[in-house]
This record gives sequence, structure tokens and C-alpha cells, in this order.
Amino acid sequence: MRIEAISVIPQVFEAYLDASIMGRAQRAGVFSFTAYDLREWTHDRHRTVDDAPFGGGQGMLMKPEPIFEAVEDVSARAEEAPHVVFFSPCGTPFTQQVASRLAQQKRLLFVCGRYEGMDERCYQLADDIISLGDYVLTGGELAALAVADAVVRLLPGALGDDMSAVDESFSDGLLEYEQYTRPADFRGMKVPDVLLSGDHGAVDLWRRQSSLERTARLRPDLLEHVDLTPSEREFVERLAHTETSGDE
Ligand code: SAH
Repeated sequence: MRIEAISVIPQVFEAYLDASIMGRAQRAGVFSFTAYDLREWTHDRHRTVDDAPFGGGQGMLMKPEPIFEAVEDVSARAEEAPHVVFFSPCGTPFTQQVASRLAQQKRLLFVCGRYEGMDERCYQLADDIISLGDYVLTGGELAALAVADAVVRLLPGALGDDMSAVDESFSDGLLEYEQYTRPADFRGMKVPDVLLSGDHGAVDLWRRQSSLERTARLRPDLLEHVDLTPSEREFVERLAHTETSGDE
């Protein structure tokens, strides 16, 4: 996959994407990354990318001309038109499902906002507008990195053989089960016996129940969109019931 980003601080991406798993994936050819400085597409001496909002109010907005020129110019640098992603607290909430959808693309172009945001007309260029969550960042760069990271780790070859993106949180719509490593007894905190039993059937059942229990406790909203067997439904309802009667 080819990933590109347009930003006024293009230097912030490198340290993260060149390190660890992302760095290895780049060197292995799983993805390539290029960041462009938006100021390359300005034409005045001060390389201006922002302007005051019509109607008055606080702060500055990113003006449309450099953004349109940058997106058009970068898009034309390869045959495949990019899937263009903008970032905003007003966008679609970013989820694992959105990451999977973006992982199908051959080319992603991220456009990172700054200041008080962008002239609304810029969003005409967007195939997706993504929000990282219900809070406000100073810029789209962290959002672009979060999206790039979540997307890249879904690409074939990104995680070595020893890791898998199949069996973890959200892959089946649930939170991941509890996990433990050595020692089996740490400061009196014991690993559940079943995990030491060597009984794979029992381990699988325990993991599924751990996953259901944790999701029901921490993120009951996720259960509304998950296919459960009748006995799993019953298990979850029993949990909810025990919790309610415990409160009484
Ligand atoms: N005034 C805007 C926020 C601008 S923040 C508003 O109230 O909606 C400046 C830039 O940071 C945005 O253009 C966007 O690119 C990025 N940004 C801020 N918060 C974000 C979030 N929750 N998700 C994704 N991008 C965000």
C-alpha cells in the first residue's frame, strides 16, 4: 500500500513510522510512506496556508487553495487515484471496521488540518472524513498516524508470523479475552487454572467467556452488533442479571 500525507509539519511522521513494527513493515515493502509540506503549494512570500474566518470569531482557518492544489498535484503523481482521507472531530468515528475498509485500498492520501480547522469547501476532496474520538486535537497528524498504524497492521506481512490480527479485540466485534504469561503466581495473583490445564477445548471456552464477560462489563454497547449463539446470549444475560441483583 502507498500512504501519503499532506501536512504543515511533515517531519512529525518519520520517528513513529520508521520504528519497530511500522519500520519493519516499510522495509519489507508492505507499505511506503511519504509526507508532503503543504506550504509547497503556496505562492506568496510568507507561504500562507491560513486566513481569518468569514463572519468573525476566534482563530484561523486553513484556506482552500493550497489544499486543493496539493491534493490534485499529489494525486496525479501515480496512476492509481488515492482514497483521500480528511480528519475532523465532525467526521465518522474511527473503528476497526473503518480500518478494515481502508486496508482494501491501494493508495491512501491523508490531509491533516491545523489551527481552528478548514474552510468547509476543502471537504469536497474527501472520500472519507474521520474522527479519532470525541475530543479536539491541535492537528490531524496524530489522527493520520493512528489510522495508518491500525490499517498497516491489517496488511498481509505487517505483523511477523508470531502475531495475528485475527484473534483480538474487535476482530469478532468483542473485546479480547484476558491474557497471562509467566509466572503462574505473581505476588499471590494467580493465573486461572484452566489456562495451565493443557485442555485446549476448555481454554477456548474460557477465552470466549472471558471475552463476553469483559465486553458485557466494559462495553455493553458492542454486544448489540454481535452474532452470539443462544447459549452465549444466555451467558451474557445471566451476567447482566447477576450484576443487577448484586446492586440491590
Ligand atoms: N474547530 C474544529 C477543530 C479543529 S482542530 C472543531 O471544533 O471541530 C484542528 C485539526 O485537528 C482538525 O482540522 C483535524 O484535522 C484535527 N483534529 C482535531 N481533533 C480531531 C479528532 N478528534 N479526530 C480527528 N482529527 C482531529
